[in-house]
Amino acid sequence: MAASDSAPAQGAPQHVDILVVGCAVVTMDDAGTVMTNGAIAIADGAIVWIGEASQARGRFTAANTLDGSGRIAMPGLIDAHLHTGQQLLRGKMASLARRRPLKIPIWKNYYIPFEGMLEPEDVYLSGMVAYTNLLQVGTTCFAEAGGPHPDEMGRAAMEVGVRGFIALSTVDQSRGTGAAVPGSMLMTTDQALERNVSLVKRWKSNDRVQAWLALRQIITCSPELIRGIASAAIELDVKIHTHLAEGTYEVDYALENFGKRSAEWLADMGVLNERLHCAHSVTLSPEEMDLYVRYKPSACHCAFNNYAIGAPPLIEMWRRGVAIGLGTDGAAAWGSLDIFQVAHAAKVGQQALWGTPNHIRTALSSDELLKIATRGGARALGMADQIGSLEVGKRADLLLVDTRDMDQYPADDPLFVASSLVVGRDVRDVIVDGKLVMKDREILTVDMEQLHARLARRLPQIMERFDRMVA
Ligand SMILES: [Zn+2]
Repeated sequence: MAASDSAPAQGAPQHVDILVVGCAVVTMDDAGTVMTNGAIAIADGAIVWIGEASQARGRFTAANTLDGSGRIAMPGLIDAHLHTGQQLLRGKMASLARRRPLKIPIWKNYYIPFEGMLEPEDVYLSGMVAYTNLLQVGTTCFAEAGGPHPDEMGRAAMEVGVRGFIALSTVDQSRGTGAAVPGSMLMTTDQALERNVSLVKRWKSNDRVQAWLALRQIITCSPELIRGIASAAIELDVKIHTHLAEGTYEVDYALENFGKRSAEWLADMGVLNERLHCAHSVTLSPEEMDLYVRYKPSACHCAFNNYAIGAPPLIEMWRRGVAIGLGTDGAAAWGSLDIFQVAHAAKVGQQALWGTPNHIRTALSSDELLKIATRGGARALGMADQIGSLEVGKRADLLLVDTRDMDQYPADDPLFVASSLVVGRDVRDVIVDGKLVMKDREILTVDMEQLHARLARRLPQIMERFDRMVA
């Protein structure tokens, strides 16, 4: 940790944009530094100083000083697998399931048809809801899995002030899917490649929001497209977001068509590398796990639904150095976009799978899970040098969480409170890229009343169409 020296401030005070002072600080740096009465100075979007509150006095003048008393400052969380286009489906699957059994798999029968009928403006609205939601639960950076009209996601993300990587839903074949891919979602191989590349180029010079390439998954993408996207990733120096090892049906598909399991097949094609970001990564053989360690694709553990897929090897990936973060899989899948809750669910899931059967009291600790949600996510997104911890020189993406609730009393260990007790709704203030975007739970960047009014007009029309479609 830099700059927490005890020497008195010399000369004229330094002017900064934001000074957060008087809070506990959970830095998540390599040394695990925790302060009980700290201060953080932010200028030009970056953290320029961290130290004891007493040392900050007289050292800085700030355009905006935030009183951190009764709060913990901690790094913003990272959602490494989000479906922006499914945001407005929140709760819908549960209510449909009460009326009749859902068609399986859900993503092909409901999610893709829903995304396929969204107009650009609908995706913009979904983005406004999803990204303000992210800030409200302490997520400052997301990786979009790939959806319709990604430029509209980017527009929303820029307005809301969140950091993120947008992506296009990329499908060039519907064979073997057992469900119709809507025409608006299905592209030729050339179109799929061109639209992905031009999307990345359009957002390349942007700072906080950029675009990745995408492959929906191996069943809906031709081998030719997979190879094309993989070489484009090298040329454009970006990552590819995909779903991998997401179910038994996918493994069977790979074995039937290629005589190999999913990750083995991608490794043979030279595509399983550090540019590939593989959401889920659940149904893996021991040999495929070795391929992850060897070729270094990143992964995302979506605890809300990974345990319905199989036995997700989060603990093994984390221990063996695979770049893995946590993800929600979007609001349609479970309902919540709260990564704090994903971490808690992952802890119980890993304990049930790997801890208890081997008589290990704690398979993965809450502290480790918070590290996966911050440092792990940053590494998985290729952003380890910029976000994921509170350190001088990193971008200023941070949260102030309240610690005065009786639900936290009398715990006074900031790391315990942050990793075990805090949930998203305890987040009070959010700073992204050095800008205060939420203060006392009020989103400062968006006219929320106007957003609610627009949703009240448009949402019933969207759902009426969807109901007719899946009836
Ligand atoms: Zn997904």
